[in-house]
Amino acid sequence: MTTSVIGYPRIGKLRELKFAIESYFKGDNTQTDLLAVAKSLRATHWRQQADNKIQYISSNDFSFYDAILDTACLLNIIPKRYQQLNLPALDQYFAMARGYQGEHGDVHALAMKKWFNTNYHYLVPEIEATTEIKLVGSKPFDEYLEAKQLGIETKPVIIGPLTFLKLAKLPAGQTYQHYQAAVIAAYQNIIAKFSQLGVNWLQIDEPILVTDLNQQDIQAFEQIYQALLAKKRNVKVLLQTYFGDIRDCYAQVTAQSFDGIGIDFVEGKQSVTLLQQHGFPADKILFAGVINGKNIWRNNYANTLALLDKIKAKTTKLVINTSCSLLHVPYTLQSETKLTIAQKAYFTFAQEKLQELAELGLLIKEADAKQHTAYKSNQVLFTREREGTHHAIKQRVTALTKQDFVRLPEFAEREKLQQQKLNLPVLPTTTIGSFPQTGDVRLNRAKFKKGEINQAQYTEFNQQKISECIKLQENIGLDVLVHGEFERNDMVEYFGESLNGFLFTEKAWVQSYGTRCVKPPVIWGDVSRSKPFTVEYSQYAQSLTNKPVKGMLTGPVTILNWSFPREDISYKESVFQIGLAIADEVLDLEAAGIGIIQIDEAALKEKLPLRKADWHSEYLDWAIPAFRLVHSKVKPETQIHTHMCYSEFTDIIKEIDQMDADVISFEASRSNLEIIDVLKRNNFKTEVGPGVYDIHSPRVPSIDEIRLTIEKLLAKIDKQKLWVNPDCGLKTRGEKEVVASLTNLVKATQAIRQEL
Ligand code: GLN
Ligand code: ZN
Repeated sequence: MTTSVIGYPRIGKLRELKFAIESYFKGDNTQTDLLAVAKSLRATHWRQQADNKIQYISSNDFSFYDAILDTACLLNIIPKRYQQLNLPALDQYFAMARGYQGEHGDVHALAMKKWFNTNYHYLVPEIEATTEIKLVGSKPFDEYLEAKQLGIETKPVIIGPLTFLKLAKLPAGQTYQHYQAAVIAAYQNIIAKFSQLGVNWLQIDEPILVTDLNQQDIQAFEQIYQALLAKKRNVKVLLQTYFGDIRDCYAQVTAQSFDGIGIDFVEGKQSVTLLQQHGFPADKILFAGVINGKNIWRNNYANTLALLDKIKAKTTKLVINTSCSLLHVPYTLQSETKLTIAQKAYFTFAQEKLQELAELGLLIKEADAKQHTAYKSNQVLFTREREGTHHAIKQRVTALTKQDFVRLPEFAEREKLQQQKLNLPVLPTTTIGSFPQTGDVRLNRAKFKKGEINQAQYTEFNQQKISECIKLQENIGLDVLVHGEFERNDMVEYFGESLNGFLFTEKAWVQSYGTRCVKPPVIWGDVSRSKPFTVEYSQYAQSLTNKPVKGMLTGPVTILNWSFPREDISYKESVFQIGLAIADEVLDLEAAGIGIIQIDEAALKEKLPLRKADWHSEYLDWAIPAFRLVHSKVKPETQIHTHMCYSEFTDIIKEIDQMDADVISFEASRSNLEIIDVLKRNNFKTEVGPGVYDIHSPRVPSIDEIRLTIEKLLAKIDKQKLWVNPDCGLKTRGEKEVVASLTNLVKATQAIRQEL
């Protein structure tokens, strides 16, 4: 049985590419140095796959920043503002990726967006009225030849025309169909060039096919591929889909003259049914995505072999594939020195997934696979109870009833009681939680971790910072204060470290965008809380002031979404376990006299399914209750806040209101306050703090600017429901700009209060 990999991570086992690129940015590294690092990484990655006998290895899955950006450059889609900089090609490329400020000019970067349902972000190509779409680059061809020189025949991979067009930003008033002919011509040239080079297989990625498509999209798909496949010559074309099933266009996809079709059987909930109902054309190869490219748990061979049996009943021309590019998992378990051998047995990162593919390729041929040692040792993991299992926690979740998700009395009544108790001025001012994490704060944490200072010294330093932070906020004149989050490295990691059931890796980095990587915690077992972990600092902060200090927590959905989730229990069960642990913390904060508690759900939208039909059944029906569970038992006069990053939640605004928080703050400043109309139209009941300035920029907003924003907000939002705050935490900002910005925020608010 043959095996295939859709794409391999490119940042390097120890993030070599990240560091080489960042040195190049700083001028410590020449272009030649950078190209050499890139070349050697590509060679390593191809060899690793070849060593594991992968037959279909990708080339052109490498990128200095992002594959969509590479495609834009390949097709000459370079907005004028970058051309006018007159930079060498590589620098122009990086200018598009991250903006440019220097002697050649001053331009913003291309917009960046979340790549489907992953935590990877791509750069949005920008087609201008004057753009001439045509093949101009040679990257895919060069990399194919580079591999060939190493003796490795690869399948080049390119982003498909439909996905590319649907993700691109177009000139006002245009539809993507307007550019279809030009894009087809450019792709025909790409295929012609591959044909000249003697390429055997070409992989064209069309993840857009797993999203909701309309009739025009399907028609565009058919037109594009009829035109391309008519000219494929001696090149075999694999149409690769991932991140879901292709239920809207299965018939149209299988009707085209592709030589192979890649289908995701891990995230594609309906993939098996589609295959069973419609069959699979006998003249094509099915690339069956059965190894999870997004999560790090070892494959369960019993389940996968059973799945492959179902697939084999419909087609015998089969290749075993990853479900998506391995870009979304870390490199290798070999770099982990702190996980136990018993723990490591449960995981596979990119490199170990190659072995899984190879083993499955062997097992599927065996008449009696179950007798095979590879099978037996795999099944041991799935038949015995894992360390980290706690029946008491599971029972707590099972015992939950409807009432555990309902806070009483209802919102309107609580709102009155809270107003009486808190007695805040109209348009209360506050911040989102963190204050600048300056060098001394990080140093203190690092010293404590290394054992250079003891617990008392560590805490004393943090208390000092808290007390300065409280004084600062009082001086500025804010109404609801925060302790500043100096003890937290990261809003999820800190919680993972304080709760039972999480594992942490040392080197398991995953690319988030460009040179930025994240190292998500692993939800390993049943999650619980042994003791309160935020109460002490919050209580200390509250003891220093008569103004209310908000307790500050991370919500269960965000903790789940920014970790590697379990596969042995449902997201729902896992998130309820986390919810119960946080709920205990909420009640302890309340008992300690904290009257306002903020529970951040920064990443609420992260796992929202790609298809609207699945939003409720697969996500919102447990994600929203998980948040309600966390605060359902607090007293009516305790005020619950939440905070969300990103403003693209217009389409789930009702569900957000149903989280039943008392106050929500979010990022609206970058989206031109568009969301405010949506709040009004939907009669949004929760009090709101839409964020009056953008904290992602070091700019200090003026008093007048903030006044204007607040006035705009007041035109649409009842003054009794409006809060004034920055749009996210201040952790990444400098102290000086924070003081200036917050001072202006308070002054602007005071001026407006005079007029009300
Ligand atoms: N409370 C967190 C902070 O202020 C929220 C961060 C976030 O929304 N990403 O840093
Ligand atoms: Zn935020």
